[in-house]
Parts: sequence; C-alpha cells; structure tokens
Amino acid sequence: MMTDAHKWPRLFVAEDLRANTTIALAPEPSHYLSHVLRLRQNDPVRLFNARDGEWLSRVAAEPAKKRGLTLALQKQLRPQLTEPDLWLCCAPIKRAHFDFMMMKATELGVAHIQPILTDRTQVREVNADRSRAIAIEAAEQSERLSIPIIHPPIALDHMAIHWPAGRLPIVCAEFGEAMPIGLAMRPFGATPPAAAAVITGPEGGFTPSEMQQLRQIPNALPLRLGPRILRADTAALAALSCWQALCGDWR
Ligand code: SAH
Repeated sequence: MMTDAHKWPRLFVAEDLRANTTIALAPEPSHYLSHVLRLRQNDPVRLFNARDGEWLSRVAAEPAKKRGLTLALQKQLRPQLTEPDLWLCCAPIKRAHFDFMMMKATELGVAHIQPILTDRTQVREVNADRSRAIAIEAAEQSERLSIPIIHPPIALDHMAIHWPAGRLPIVCAEFGEAMPIGLAMRPFGATPPAAAAVITGPEGGFTPSEMQQLRQIPNALPLRLGPRILRADTAALAALSCWQALCGDWR
C-alpha cells in the first residue's frame, strides 16, 4: 500500500539507487533517523540521488547505539523526471536572506543558482557547503527529485558577455523601461522558451551601466514586479513564481 508514502522520511544520498542493494548511512542521517525519528527495523525511508528517481528502502537491522544505519533498497517509487530548465542569477545578499532565498528557490524548482557580483554587491562570498546543505534539506522536504546546482560567484559583466545562447534572460529591472511581468510572460502561451534565467540585483540595486549591460544580452526581457521596490530575496522568489505559473511546471 503506497497511500502513506508521502509521510515516509525522505533523504538525499550520493549513492546509486538499485534494487537489492544496501546503503550505509553517514553518522548524521543515521542519528536523525534512529534517534530523532526513532525508526525501527523495517521502517520505510524514501531515498533520491537526483539521478535514479525516488526509491523505497527499509531500515535493515534494529538500530543500535554507535552504529550507522543501513538501509535496504526495495523498489523505485518514482522515475527521475525532467524538471524545468530554470536558473536564478542573483547577487549574494546578507546571510540569513541568502539562506532563505536558496531554500525557497529550491522549493520553487530552480535547476541552477548562479551568484553574480555587481558594483553594489556587499556580500561577495557564498559558502558553497552551507548553501548546498540548505538546498538538500529543501529538496528533501519539498518532494523534489533533484538538487539545484549552486555555482561559485562570477562578475556580472562576465555573465552578460558569456550569456548562453537560447536561454531567456529575465532581467528584474527596478528602474528604467520594463514590462509588467504578467503581461510579458502571457504571450508565450503554450510554447514558452525551454530555458530561462531570472536575474536579480543586490540590496542596493543594479547601477545604470549594469542595467544597460543586462539589457544588451540578446533577447533580454526587462520586467517590472509591480510598483513597489521589493527586497532582493522577495524579487527573486516573486519572479520565479510568476515564471512557474505562466511558463513553467505549475501550469
Ligand atoms: N535599493 C534599490 C532596490 C534594490 S531591490 C532601490 O532602492 O532602487 C533588489 C533587486 O530586486 C533589484 O536589483 C531588482 O533586480 C529586484 N527588484 C526589486 N523590486 C523590483 C521591482 N519592482 N521590479 C523589478 N525588479 C525588482
């Protein structure tokens, strides 16, 4: 009976997922499953690795103190699906807000996150391990089958010059000429571009010359998110939500 499947704990693992194999968990997830969730032998755990879909496994032996948990794989519950090819290119912001943005962008289904350094970017480093851990946790709890890839920061002009052909640049423009986001996305109708990227600035916004550079990326779509100035994290999440609703996998 699969009806309770959504209640079973869900973990991201690095290993391949195949029937009739076992996975020895690292100390941290072992502790979480055996001491926090108090799982016992045979209890179900769902696993995904961003390659092999979602799998049902069961606790192989009665959990014992100071011993890692072993999970026995049983069967695939869901195949790996193709997910929207949506990127978020965002200036890093203060830690708590950046963490929040990583978590929520993961829930919203972003495939890649590219931090960009701009003139007014005050936070210039991204803790890759920490961001990845946040993304993994958000993917585990949001039933996602993949983890967004978080790239090291690059300069805005480098990004603009090397923009990948075929990826729609959605420039969240807090000033200058820009279409309301709903109006701009509606005409895509049933055939939106397969690849898109939402681009947002830092707390201090883009400089006029950066905005000019972004507008010059071929096919750039400068968009306005309403009459209010949103904080950088709100702007990113609002734009991603609009894309998913009008052009992405919320349709
Ligand atoms: N301090 C700046 C605002 C920066 S907001 C100012 O006062 O003008 C941070 C980023 O969020 C912006 O660079 C932009 O990418 C996005 N953003 C915020 N509000 C927006 C809006 N109404 N429309 C489009 N983008 C917006």
